[in-house]
Amino acid sequence: MAKALIIGCGGVGSVAIHKCCQNSEVFEEICIASRTKSKCDELKAKLEKTTKTKITTAKVDANQVDELVSLIQRVKPDIVMNLALPYQDLTIMEACLATKTHYMDTANYEPEDTAHFEYSWQWAYRDAFKKAGVTALLGSGFDPGVTSVFTAYALKHHFDEIETIDILDCNGGDHGYPFATNFNPEINIREVSAKGKYWENGAWVETEPMEIKRVYDFPEVGVKDMYLMHHEEIESLALNVPGIKRIRFFMTFGQSYLTHLKCLENVGMTSIEPIEFQGQQIVPLQFLKAVLPDPASLGPRTKGKTNIGCIFTGRKDGKEKTYYIYNVCDHEESYKEVGSQAISYTTGVPAMIGAMMVVTGKWQKPGVYNMEEFDPDPFMAELSKWGLPWVECHAPKLVD
Ligand code: NDP
Repeated sequence: MAKALIIGCGGVGSVAIHKCCQNSEVFEEICIASRTKSKCDELKAKLEKTTKTKITTAKVDANQVDELVSLIQRVKPDIVMNLALPYQDLTIMEACLATKTHYMDTANYEPEDTAHFEYSWQWAYRDAFKKAGVTALLGSGFDPGVTSVFTAYALKHHFDEIETIDILDCNGGDHGYPFATNFNPEINIREVSAKGKYWENGAWVETEPMEIKRVYDFPEVGVKDMYLMHHEEIESLALNVPGIKRIRFFMTFGQSYLTHLKCLENVGMTSIEPIEFQGQQIVPLQFLKAVLPDPASLGPRTKGKTNIGCIFTGRKDGKEKTYYIYNVCDHEESYKEVGSQAISYTTGVPAMIGAMMVVTGKWQKPGVYNMEEFDPDPFMAELSKWGLPWVECHAPKLVD
């Protein structure tokens, strides 16, 4: 029986909160805290009639360590689930250290003023968390998250050595808008307009944004264009998968999305450099976020499925082997169950499971860890149970 303090009540937070409330045997009590408390109160009012989990709410500015520390001291949670934005990772980790509380998140730290993400800032806390005797679990969403657990599972059960990993993230959903993002628009656009990068033979290879395109026929979704992007799990998997030769990440994008994005980039709307507008400093990308559809509003309109998974090549018992493991998630079914589309669903479910692994002691180890560093079996056992079953294929079509 555990108590969780959940920071952030947006698309991903809302799904994780629904799932904690479905799992009241483990999550006896949750406190939902965010910048806008009214959203936490609305969700509490919706859920408290349906669950045994006791729900409280609070207002917090997660950029302020002292505010976080007093909240943690008041709530006394077993774990802090960081489902706010990557900008808040370090302040929340600091507060967890100060109060000796376990920590988890779904995305690695990114400073607000440079669109650059990497693990170094969070890995710098390894010794401090070890000394404090608490666990920090990094990247417990789908990608990173489930894709990292899939890798640990493949290594444990199917390979002696993994040589290549292709992570394929396909969203076959249609929300009917010419342009909208499936999660926080600011974070999403920073990610997709960055240069591409992949890991090969012990070094990073950089590409222009969307330079490398492939076409793949995704099970249960169909044929889609996909583009090579940098993604944070490549960095930790390169470190944690012994002998790995190549790791790439591909995401599908439709032509309408890409054309709109190019146009917005060309006119300067995706810039994070502040500009002066009518006597006020504004960041064009933050203004764009304000005029785009709220990802939470896509839920009732989105039809179709996501397919996210990993294709591995390597060796087992001296023989060459290929293996594909993926999850298919239906936008409409997700919406029916928790009122959110599949992108939030596929992130919020593993967020709850990751926190559950830590509070039940299955994944507790003082220090800062990525998902693939723990035993994948207990996590995999919970995935199907909480709505994300996986499919295995032993002769997949490979990506060239
Ligand atoms: P949203 O913008 O929908 O939600 C973010 C929430 O954090 C909002 O409730 C927001 O409050 C709150 N918040 C923002 N700043 C602060 C602050 N300073 N103090 C307190 N609360 C704050 O984002 P998403 O739910 O789409 O994404 C959440 C996280 O999930 C992001 O880090 C994203 O990168 C990650 N993600 C990970 C994926 C994975 O597979 N690993 C996939 C998709 C997303 P307010 O309501 O006031 O804005």
